[in-house]
Amino acid sequence: MKVISLLLIIVILFSCSPNPYSATNKIYKKQARIFAKILSSTPTDSIWADSLKRPSHNANTTNFGMRKPNMVIIHFTAQNSCEQTLQTFTKPATQVSAHYVICKDGMLQHILNDYLRAWHAGVAKWGNNNDINSTSIGVEIDNNGMDSFSTAQLNTLYGVLAFLKKEYNIPTANFIGHSDVAPTRKPDPGILFPWKSLSAKGYGNWYADTTGKVIPVDFNTLYALKIIGYDLKDLPAVYRAFRMHFLGYKNDAELTETEKKILYMLMQQYL
Ligand SMILES: [Zn+2]
Repeated sequence: MKVISLLLIIVILFSCSPNPYSATNKIYKKQARIFAKILSSTPTDSIWADSLKRPSHNANTTNFGMRKPNMVIIHFTAQNSCEQTLQTFTKPATQVSAHYVICKDGMLQHILNDYLRAWHAGVAKWGNNNDINSTSIGVEIDNNGMDSFSTAQLNTLYGVLAFLKKEYNIPTANFIGHSDVAPTRKPDPGILFPWKSLSAKGYGNWYADTTGKVIPVDFNTLYALKIIGYDLKDLPAVYRAFRMHFLGYKNDAELTETEKKILYMLMQQYL
């Protein structure tokens, strides 16, 4: 009987592989509890200054919800494996994270609650929004920046995007890339990312056929890029980001007449 019990213990020990992230999962829980405490506290006192008149009785509303993400930023990890990325995102010293990681075989890791703020966009701007992390979901795709994206990954991505779009009512135009919101710093998700296919499924805008179209003589390319959302601080970087997303190649020269026509058609989606 003793031998059988011993064998049973050995079998159990070897069949349950320990979670290599159990220590960092504990840190996650602890951090989430701190935020839960902040959320459950009544409004902050920090607004009060001598010039503001305080009420004799505080009143808290009964009518509220959670703030929701309104954009999805797509990245490639620029790393060599999903495991490497998960390790990066679970080391406090790196100060980087995302909400979702999609591995090459299509496996999905949901590493942060969608209502919390991931550190994925960094210094970034889209339209007048200069706090992209506060308003977006970060989706990282395991890709070293040179390989094409696997069918399994893209199928998982479509599933994630369908969920996010429906759950948070995210506008079609607000599915964009890291290079769009940080054109001077970031190249991802890169020229191999299939933006046109995404757009056909309702994630991101695309342009209509330009055949036979004539652009107005007063068409202003900078105005069009601004309307779409680009931060025009560094124009060569913006031309490069626009080309990477909508034309599938990199070049930071001024736009050609053909490219301007595409930009003009694309702008129509934003008006
Ligand atoms: Zn990125």
